[in-house]
Amino acid sequence: MLQAIMTEPGKIVYQEVLIPEVGDNQIKVKMKIIGVCGSDVHVNHGKHPYTKYPVVQGHEVSAIVEEVGSSVTNVKVGDRVTIQPQVVCGECYPCTHGMYNDCEVLKVMGFQTTGMASEYFVVDAEKAIKLPEGMSYDHGAMIEPLAVAVHAVRRYGNIQGKSVLVLGGGPIGNLVAQTAKAMGAAKVMMSELSEYRLNTAEKCGIATVNPKEKDLKEAIINFFGVDGADVIFECIGINATMKQAIEYARKGSDIVVVGVFGDLATINMGFVQDHELRLIGTAMYRVEDYIEAIRLVGEGLIEFDSLITHRVPFSEYEKAYKIIDEQKDKAMKVLIEMD
Ligand SMILES: [Zn+2]
Ligand SMILES: [Zn+2]
Repeated sequence: MLQAIMTEPGKIVYQEVLIPEVGDNQIKVKMKIIGVCGSDVHVNHGKHPYTKYPVVQGHEVSAIVEEVGSSVTNVKVGDRVTIQPQVVCGECYPCTHGMYNDCEVLKVMGFQTTGMASEYFVVDAEKAIKLPEGMSYDHGAMIEPLAVAVHAVRRYGNIQGKSVLVLGGGPIGNLVAQTAKAMGAAKVMMSELSEYRLNTAEKCGIATVNPKEKDLKEAIINFFGVDGADVIFECIGINATMKQAIEYARKGSDIVVVGVFGDLATINMGFVQDHELRLIGTAMYRVEDYIEAIRLVGEGLIEFDSLITHRVPFSEYEKAYKIIDEQKDKAMKVLIEMD
């Protein structure tokens, strides 16, 4: 089978490799769609702190099961699945306390261990999550980023009836906003500088503000009322928006840190202390977040299609990154098609 290998930042070559043998607890899947995400882009630019080269990418996927090992019971041949890409130890403190997504020796397929950018993939069956009848492969590959959003919203707690401000309108910010709404938030507004991404959010039913054009503080009061937002989701991971979150947070409110910070942020800890703010981190997801993500999509509460902006064939993997670098804010989700 063909496998796409990133040998160095920006360079992908194809190699003919043997399909690994399927163990008793494993399955072989035929890849259908692979989504490209922000972390992949960091790897493409040589700026991912925890990834070495050569690396096989691919962690947002949909696939069809072609073979199952003798002990496998959770999926059968012909099932359409997505694959949870975390490899965890099961023994460390996070693993034994219900938070294996933060495993001390976590390996993520596509970063620290072989990803799924190949025609076939052999993996432990327990990593497979069945896609429901009628869900397209495109949407199946979007379940992973949606699980990130579901986990982030759940880290806050019960979002029902809450006022939610989302900073950042990339795929994750967009999905966090949609998820908050889908899970029962009363009011959701997104702040974002890109008009393209604001339009996309509006297509997904999210209220928006561009702080370039309107004072954000004023916009918050206009939209939510004088009490502002109950929770702010920071979904960019830069100093400027973290600063905004701390400054514009209502006293006694929560900030969920979703964005991945490449650089240290300088924030006003005086505000955190005096305003009794709670900062809540969120990292990846667990299987229950996949299940909830699939449920939300099944109920028609998530709009994926507006986020899928480009598609490229597997044979032109590098082109996905070219599109992302050139189109910038206009490239939301690029999908790699296997067939
Ligand atoms: Zn991702
Ligand atoms: Zn562990």
